Amino acid sequence: MSAPVGRFAPTPSGRMHLGNVFAGLIAWLSVKSRGGSMVLRMEDLDTQRTSPEFAEVLRKDLQWLGLTWDLETPPQSQRSAVYNRYFEKLRDLDLLYPCYCTRSQLHNVNAPHLSDGTYVYPGTCRHLTEEERQTFGRAPAWRVKVPDRIWTVDDHVQGIYTENLATDCGDFVVRRADGVYVYQLAVTVDDGEAGVTEVVRGMDLLSSAPRQMYLQELFGFSHPAYGHVPMLLATDGRRLSKRDKDMDLGYLQERVKPEALIGLLAYSAHLIDNLTPISPLELAKEFSWEKLRKEDICLDISPLLG
Ligand code: GLU
Repeated sequence: MSAPVGRFAPTPSGRMHLGNVFAGLIAWLSVKSRGGSMVLRMEDLDTQRTSPEFAEVLRKDLQWLGLTWDLETPPQSQRSAVYNRYFEKLRDLDLLYPCYCTRSQLHNVNAPHLSDGTYVYPGTCRHLTEEERQTFGRAPAWRVKVPDRIWTVDDHVQGIYTENLATDCGDFVVRRADGVYVYQLAVTVDDGEAGVTEVVRGMDLLSSAPRQMYLQELFGFSHPAYGHVPMLLATDGRRLSKRDKDMDLGYLQERVKPEALIGLLAYSAHLIDNLTPISPLELAKEFSWEKLRKEDICLDISPLLG
């Protein structure tokens, strides 16, 4: 088997928090423990929230942690012409239709909602006639039709996860009304073109995997392996987010050494038996997916801050 290819896909909208660091660490360990390579890609589709300055800080943060990459591919904000080609492929397959639903219509109580708050698109605009489409007088979003079929993700951490896109998701948007391509399409194209064989990221993205597997199949890419790692929680049980300043790298870099931080993450995730500083390179020697804790991780950084 050829060497695995993994990826870091950060969104440059602020400093990394420890949840991002943790997912990046596991992605790196999995690939590097098997002699593979890492691709870095800035996910800056949302140009309002992201910036090249943050991207530069993220690169420095990864370097500081010892999480190296072998290749950086162009940021998503520069790839709309490429995404366009794949969008046209969907059109050729007769799988696209324009959607004029407004935000409030989409959040209408009639639409079934899933446990995570997202809704199943009921196909409102799927069968509009050309005349009906003309009456809206505004640019539509574009949805891809999904088949009534079960997708199975065999996840390194979560085990078997299945979804029928028709009943659990509905036709989903691939291009917004303002012309911006959405995450699901961009990430599928980028991972596919970069030859990524393993996608490791936070558990919150597990339900995106079936949509991406569907697009991979349509675009002719092989399915990568998946590992959706546990979320990190603050000591009060909340999920870490970019708002937790004491958990972001800007704050932590001034107070702790990278090996101490990696050691705490590895120990909390059951990768090592004792709380001790360790480098990613050392950790890679003994990495295995079996050891990794499966439940959310409550992270107490106080031992590091002394
Ligand atoms: N850009 C996403 C993030 O920063 C990650 C997406 C992915 O790994 O597929 O959370």
